[in-house]
Amino acid sequence: MRFELATAGRILFGPGTLKELEPIAADLGRRALIVRGRNPDRARHLEAIVRAANINYSLFEVHGEPTIERIEAGVKQAREIEADMVIGFGGGSVIDSAKAIAALATNPGSILEYLEVIGKGKQLALASVPCIAIPTTAGTGAEVTRNAVLASPAHKVKVSLRSPYLLPRLAVVDPMLTCDLSRSVTASTGLDALTQLIEPYVCVRSNPVTDGFCVEGLKRVARSFRSAFEDGHDIPARENMALASLFGGLSLANAGLGGVHGFASPIGGMFDAPHGAICAALLPHVMEINIRALQERARESAVLSRYDTIATLLTGSGKATSEDGIRWVHDLCKDLRIPGLRTYGVSASDVPVVVEQAAKASSMKANPIELTTEELTEVLEQAI
Ligand SMILES: [Zn+2]
Repeated sequence: MRFELATAGRILFGPGTLKELEPIAADLGRRALIVRGRNPDRARHLEAIVRAANINYSLFEVHGEPTIERIEAGVKQAREIEADMVIGFGGGSVIDSAKAIAALATNPGSILEYLEVIGKGKQLALASVPCIAIPTTAGTGAEVTRNAVLASPAHKVKVSLRSPYLLPRLAVVDPMLTCDLSRSVTASTGLDALTQLIEPYVCVRSNPVTDGFCVEGLKRVARSFRSAFEDGHDIPARENMALASLFGGLSLANAGLGGVHGFASPIGGMFDAPHGAICAALLPHVMEINIRALQERARESAVLSRYDTIATLLTGSGKATSEDGIRWVHDLCKDLRIPGLRTYGVSASDVPVVVEQAAKASSMKANPIELTTEELTEVLEQAI
């Protein structure tokens, strides 16, 4: 057994923890770049805290998934104000932007030099400006991951900037920040969290530490997902979903993912669709094909019993089998009104190119069993 565990320098979790930020931020620096999403009102409370800490700040907006161009603009702004900290306040895209800007503010040269696939994939040599990550959705776990997913519209792909330096100095996970999320965002981000608890648990690099996070996270998703969707102000349910998201991030960053994320990466680059909704449409089908492929080609694999464990955690029944787990996920997607991928413009004619790209994706390499082109095609056709 060999594993590594790396996470944010410090994690503060709990309803109301945002209020504890003032003295901690004051210790970190004097000039902050605050990266936030589209709605300026949501970050007002954070701005008041930063002002109370006597920190000068400038604001930077990110709409939707960050492009390389947008990140370059953020880096320029951070350097201009000589930012000694970057605070990301928003969903996964905003947090990833803050992490990337914090890293590139200290490392010289163009962002392309450091990107995988479309760039030179050079390692970041210098530590980032301290980054504080404050998620306002419950799904991506980006506050504890060491990559930032960036879009390159010119190449029609999404690529990752990867480095241990991308891990934030501090993550503040305050479930109260998720209470006002719409039902559709609660559904799609929550399904990303669920996927990010299932894939690391069955992937080729699962380890005892991430297993613990996955099991605990899956129990909480099973208990609270529907409640958080029905009543956004159900605090215990929001708390469980925020914890599930954090545990998913801890797991994927230290174990890996699998087929669902292998597909999500090219689909996200080619179509305008929320990451969580893409994962949701694929999840039950990838589970099904993985189980079938394992039964056909790796009957002795311990991963098969892991799928049974997932089923018992999700259904709450000790007798549940992997088929019951797939059914539970199917039913959840139906109840949460998750549409097929055709809603986002994916059609049968896109299948060959998406399959080809997905087969090469880094997440696909962690899938518990290598899937054939025919199997990948079958999954995608079902998810459309
Ligand atoms: Zn994801």
